[in-house]
Amino acid sequence: MAALIPGEPTPIVPHAWRVLGRNPGMMTGPGTNSYLLGEHALTVIDPGPVDEEHTRALLAAAKQIGRPIEQILVTHTHRDHSPGAHALARATGARLLGPTVPDDGLQDDTWQAERVLRHGEHLDCGGIDVEVIATPGHVGNHLCYLMVDQALLFTGDHLIQGSTVVIAPPSGSMSAYLNSLALLNDYAITLMAPGHGDVISDPKGTVEHTIAHRLEREKKVFAALDANPATVQELVTRVYADVPAFLHGVACLSLEAHLIKLREDDRVRHDQGKWSV
Ligand SMILES: [Zn+2]
Repeated sequence: MAALIPGEPTPIVPHAWRVLGRNPGMMTGPGTNSYLLGEHALTVIDPGPVDEEHTRALLAAAKQIGRPIEQILVTHTHRDHSPGAHALARATGARLLGPTVPDDGLQDDTWQAERVLRHGEHLDCGGIDVEVIATPGHVGNHLCYLMVDQALLFTGDHLIQGSTVVIAPPSGSMSAYLNSLALLNDYAITLMAPGHGDVISDPKGTVEHTIAHRLEREKKVFAALDANPATVQELVTRVYADVPAFLHGVACLSLEAHLIKLREDDRVRHDQGKWSV
């Protein structure tokens, strides 16, 4: 595992590098990871937020690697992942490929793919075969990218290292998230390169652990409910007692996602802003 140093290209596997952004924070951990990959030309995955210095770092990394940037992919359109695409495209002439933007008020609505990618299609990334895997859940438009010959999955915010991701309804969906986690078992994956944090060297264990963690939280959510209707704000202190209070605002989003899934499963009711069994 290499140190996480902003701006420096760090090799991950042959023909793939990570460049950490300079946006550490509560929601971004050490910052957003941008990746470059390709044998004779480079594809950038997740150019990051608008940040001239990070764009310069990506251009410098490409120069150091000695290959031109010809393509930019994004895993999803949260504002810490995609808005840097335009400055990078202006500087390089690279084309923009990725998902459409859901209209939930949480997205980078400057993003527009020149071509919208579909689940299962294969891309030629400068001589590297990359498969697109649709993984809705964290957000409805989330895509992962599989570097097939290295069995390396670029996970964006589907799975990040050292933490769980927020599922924010309505575009984020807990049932979709669990399905998208299970879907990864259908692929040969030996390494994950996440949107935040270092590489994940135990993909199978991480997927299993994450599913178990979510189902455990779902149990807690259900146990916290009784016949007395309660709001999400009332429930969050009961369900997320193990999480520091300053994170409860964010936890409310994932809590609501759990409640919506329980309602889909016909186990809870929602009436006038209150939830009950
Ligand atoms: Zn995100």
